[in-house]
Amino acid sequence: MREVGRKQGTVSPCAACKLLRRRCAQDCIFAPYFPADEPQKFANVHKVFGASNVSKLLQELPAHHRSDAVSSLVYEANARVRDPVYGCVGAISSLQRQIESLQTQLAVAQAEMVRLRMRHATCLAHLGSRTHTTALGTASASTTGSSSMASPKQQLIAPDQHAPKSVFALDMVIVDQTSLGEPPIWSC
Ligand SMILES: [Zn+2]
Repeated sequence: MREVGRKQGTVSPCAACKLLRRRCAQDCIFAPYFPADEPQKFANVHKVFGASNVSKLLQELPAHHRSDAVSSLVYEANARVRDPVYGCVGAISSLQRQIESLQTQLAVAQAEMVRLRMRHATCLAHLGSRTHTTALGTASASTTGSSSMASPKQQLIAPDQHAPKSVFALDMVIVDQTSLGEPPIWSC
């Protein structure tokens, strides 16, 4: 669009030429990347890198890389203006610290999840042994200790293997869990 305007003879110097107070030639190296409606974009790049350095850099690059190079220069220049000491490194360091903080939070959350799962498994094992005892009557005093070592799934299945009233046994598991006084953990 800018090119069309320039070819039609409309006098609209690019942001670089406007700032440098020079005539914007037809083949101005800045014109495609620094439009007149974004003056600050070139101002920061000029302030940090210098117009002649940017011009040389763009001329040394193939045309298809110039747009990316300008984006990079603008990003770095804006960062340097915001943070004259650290520039882009300040942003990178800040993001790195955020990553480390979030990784720590994630590790804490994962450890808590493991702890809750183990407590859940222990509760189920305990309830399973109680259900097992109820289903079999009082004959499983010695079995209770060993069965508490089994997995929760086995504990839920165990009453079914011995007692015909499996639905009743499972109902008892649910009732017993609510009677523990702790919030039930449904996720496994
Ligand atoms: Zn120009």
